[in-house]
Amino acid sequence: MTTQPTRRHLFGPGPSNCYPEATEALGRPLLGHLDPDFITILDSASDALRTVWGTTNTRTLPLSATGSAGMEAAFVNTVVPGDIAVIAVNGLFGERMCEVARRCGAEVIRVDHEWGTPIDAERVLKAHPSPRVIAAVHAETSTGVLSDVSELGINKGDALLIVDAVTSLGGIEVRADDWGIDIGYSGTQKCLGVPPGLSPITVSERAFKRRVKDPRSWYLDIGLLGGYVGAAQGSSRTYHHTAPVAMVASLEGGLRRILDEGLEHVWARHEAAGQALRDGLQNMGLELFAPEGYRLASLTTVKVPDGVESARVRRHLMGKYSMEIGAGVGRYADSIWRIGTMGPNAQPDSVELILGALEDGIR
Ligand code: PLP
Repeated sequence: MTTQPTRRHLFGPGPSNCYPEATEALGRPLLGHLDPDFITILDSASDALRTVWGTTNTRTLPLSATGSAGMEAAFVNTVVPGDIAVIAVNGLFGERMCEVARRCGAEVIRVDHEWGTPIDAERVLKAHPSPRVIAAVHAETSTGVLSDVSELGINKGDALLIVDAVTSLGGIEVRADDWGIDIGYSGTQKCLGVPPGLSPITVSERAFKRRVKDPRSWYLDIGLLGGYVGAAQGSSRTYHHTAPVAMVASLEGGLRRILDEGLEHVWARHEAAGQALRDGLQNMGLELFAPEGYRLASLTTVKVPDGVESARVRRHLMGKYSMEIGAGVGRYADSIWRIGTMGPNAQPDSVELILGALEDGIR
């Protein structure tokens, strides 16, 4: 038997600590996956997801897998061998999109940006005259950078727009319909304040009509999934796979909490926590990594000061404060920290805790 600590402060890039409503739902008596009470919970979660995505898309549902499955679903349902996929890359998750699209047979046109900079919509739009899909990451977790994806939506022409909102949904403004997002996907473990395990996805009618028929993935086929969740509300459900009942209940709990508080209030709470953290870090003499104006409210990236060993500080925070913060990624692995203030952690007390612990750790 291993011993589990009573709690951790999860201030890394995710998973984050959960809303109490999300945790409480995990302990409820288990329901069958076609139980009418479960279907009510699933419908309620899908309705709430429509609100947080800012969409009326019927096909808005939690995929039974993590955020990467949302990414796979987006590409496997939209591209077949030879299709052109223009992908903006400004960090690890843009890179991952390229790999997923390549494996679906797409001819990938990467539009590379310096890591730590936002995407340049004009360059992305000029990369090819008639791509099948254009894809971009809204909130790049590897660098803490926010990009404006709405310009891609306005000028996408005939292409379908795929957007990764894993580190923004539920904490930073996302408006799928207004921004012209055809397929958006996210994860539960970040701003939604729910454990990892589901990928909320939304699919526009346009994308659904133009979907790949008989895609290579049976499990992630949005045509088959629609009959089971979301799309068939009010009609009888057909079995597709056994939904992770407890996780869907947890998601519903987290979403209910967000909507009870008020989505715009939740965005403002994330913004205030992010700002307080950025101010505090700069007051300590530290330098932020992401450029001003493009900094994520939910995830702050900060440079490790000269002469300080990143891993030693992270070990110290874990050992003394039971606190996790993230290292950097790729060539920034040792030179930046990634500090999340997501979901219930987007609060002044969390920010104070982080700043105090970091000051102690760096000393
Ligand atoms: N996209 C982004 C922006 C992410 O931050 C992550 C995970 O951190 C993913 C995709 C992949 O999600 P998961 O790890 O839940 O599969």
